[in-house]
Amino acid sequence: MRGAVIHAPGDVRFETLDDPKILKPTDAIIRTAVTCVCGSDLWPYRGLEPTGEPHPMGHEYVGIVEETGGAVTSVEPGQFVVGSFATSDNTCANCRNGIQSNCLDREFMSTCQAEYVRIPNAHGTLVATEGVPGEEFWPGLLAVSDVMGTGWWAAEAAEVKPGSSAVVVGDGAVGLCAVIAAKEMGAERIIAMSRHESRRRLAREFGATDIVTERGDEGVARVKDLTGGIGADAVLECVGTAQAMLQALGSARPGGDVGFVGVPHEVQVDGQELFHSHVGLRGGPAPVRRYLPDLIDRVLSGRIDPGRVFDLTLPLEQVAEGYKAMDERRAMHWHGAAPNRLMVHLAINESDADRDVVHWLTPVTDEEYATAPPRT
Ligand SMILES: [Zn+2]
Repeated sequence: MRGAVIHAPGDVRFETLDDPKILKPTDAIIRTAVTCVCGSDLWPYRGLEPTGEPHPMGHEYVGIVEETGGAVTSVEPGQFVVGSFATSDNTCANCRNGIQSNCLDREFMSTCQAEYVRIPNAHGTLVATEGVPGEEFWPGLLAVSDVMGTGWWAAEAAEVKPGSSAVVVGDGAVGLCAVIAAKEMGAERIIAMSRHESRRRLAREFGATDIVTERGDEGVARVKDLTGGIGADAVLECVGTAQAMLQALGSARPGGDVGFVGVPHEVQVDGQELFHSHVGLRGGPAPVRRYLPDLIDRVLSGRIDPGRVFDLTLPLEQVAEGYKAMDERRAMHWHGAAPNRLMVHLAINESDADRDVVHWLTPVTDEEYATAPPRT
């Protein structure tokens, strides 16, 4: 089979690899339907994380089961399945407590930008849909496997409740999905912090009632203006930078909660300030597995459409182009999925939410696309 391999920063190749095999009775092999490039894949691509030896990439997937190990009874060959970026047996103590992303048998997915993928812990990780869903649902289901599940966790961790006020910090793919989650959980006021015109528009369509473009102290002041002077009940931190965390903690009311799902980079929390703020703080990798049945239903019933965060679709063999487009922030509208497709999503900006973006979610002509400046 063929799949993406990173050789060095800026050097992702689509090459022939050994076909994955069942290694344990709890494994399954799936044929990829769609996969994507995540903002976190850009860390090694940009040389901000060591790449080490050449290795496969990708942690998001939906696909069709090809083969199962002897202990896998929950799914069978031919079924369309959605999983999580963190695999789980779904039976250990942490799984039973609903934190499947901290399963005692957890393995993180890392080989998904390929034609076939081995899924460890398949018995506990994969959830099959009823029949093979129409391709129009694949982007939404792919989002559920990571960014939508993560947005949901942000809302749950921040204790969003019916009638509550919520602030979403970050307007990347996770932040936009967090807006969807806050709305679904009944937040009455949803304040999205966003500076990008096209994302503000999408945030509004997803349910944001207010947009705050200011950052830092001004951003906090603006949130307080909108929340009776005290701050929001729930704050969903979807970036992971020090500035975003300060923004989040400052935007929560005394007794409110911050859910933080952006992978922290140089984030420090002051114990004294946290203590005196009366703000609750919870985060971590999202227990996506727990949400899968419910989120799959919401997507397939058309209630939510998180697939809209994808804005470029390519054949899988053009995976290197996908990385480049994401790195350079070129993008086109998502225009339909097909087997073995790769998608690029907005998570690109979650790690540096302030950098400008070129025409996100607005169509770029083929000519513009072809003449975009090369990566330097
Ligand atoms: Zn477990």
